[in-house]
Amino acid sequence: MKAMVVDDERDVELLFRQYFRKEIQQNRIEFIFAFSGEDALEKLQNMGQPPEVMVILSDINMPGMNGLDLLKAVKRTFPTIKVSMITAYSNQYYKDAMSAGADNFYTKPLDFTTLKKELFGGAANA
Ligand SMILES: [Mg+2]
Repeated sequence: MKAMVVDDERDVELLFRQYFRKEIQQNRIEFIFAFSGEDALEKLQNMGQPPEVMVILSDINMPGMNGLDLLKAVKRTFPTIKVSMITAYSNQYYKDAMSAGADNFYTKPLDFTTLKKELFGGAANA
């Protein structure tokens, strides 16, 4: 499974690589990292149709295109991709994210056990 993580904080890539080290080694998941909404869309568009990415996990607060705008653009252009939001400001954004079609909503700091359950359908193996 290919998943895309979008966050302007570059440390997030390291975090995902650490928490998913085993699953990455076992080829159960492959992560593509993007560092802005624009970067994410460009990477999706360069993948061929339809993109192989099944799920996008995106931060909301980013310079330029924010995560909610990215969510709307992805749902319009690539409706089969699941898009979940990640933010430290859950109260502020929850309603907007859900009405824009977010598949899930996570708060920072990320609970990787919950995240694995979503990605791997319950077999967490945390
Ligand atoms: Mg951010």
